[in-house]
Amino acid sequence: MHTPTLDAPTMCEDHAHDAPAAATDADARHGVTRTQAEDAVRILLRWAGDDPAREGLIDTPKRVAKAYGDWFSGYAMDPQDYLQRTFEEVGGYDELVVLRDIEFESHCEHHMAPIIGKAHVGYLPNGRVVGISKLARVVEAYARRFQVQENMTAQIAHCIQSALEPRGVGVVIEAAHECMTTRGIHKRGVSMVTSKMLGSFREDARTRAEFLELIRVRGGR
Ligand SMILES: [Zn+2]
Repeated sequence: MHTPTLDAPTMCEDHAHDAPAAATDADARHGVTRTQAEDAVRILLRWAGDDPAREGLIDTPKRVAKAYGDWFSGYAMDPQDYLQRTFEEVGGYDELVVLRDIEFESHCEHHMAPIIGKAHVGYLPNGRVVGISKLARVVEAYARRFQVQENMTAQIAHCIQSALEPRGVGVVIEAAHECMTTRGIHKRGVSMVTSKMLGSFREDARTRAEFLELIRVRGGR
């Protein structure tokens, strides 16, 4: 019998309240049943050297399958949808709109390891703006997939460009890759910075500089 205690050092935050329901084939996604997904987790646990049948791991495959539903919920989202509702009456506002420090969690497609970072998104409106939270939604929809940081940066920029048709778009992402900090070369404290500039952000050095100034990422990075 599993008896959770508050001070158990190895306990995940949601370990106690998160007893998942039994797998059913009704939960199948993309041709994979939840039972198959859980079996795959058991195989990885064995591959790692542990015993999936021991008490502490018995519900782990269910939890992992459930967590995948959260971490990879971006596949069920269409980022363009978030940008459909625009506002045209903005008092002639034609200066930069910038949302900075959008925190995100993603997973690298090479190791399935977490990528933890921040995105900064800006655009120069061409008569239409979106609700600012929608930019964060777009970031989330792309982050909650298996990703390569360079691709994610470009995907966000192109999504905003095609949906809003602004005069320009800038996206800068800074992120730490756990495949690099916890394995391989074990470099902590390093973050990777990628940027994608479109339209006036690409062509006009002043617009680009203003954007970088607003998000406090200095040129040369
Ligand atoms: Zn990786």
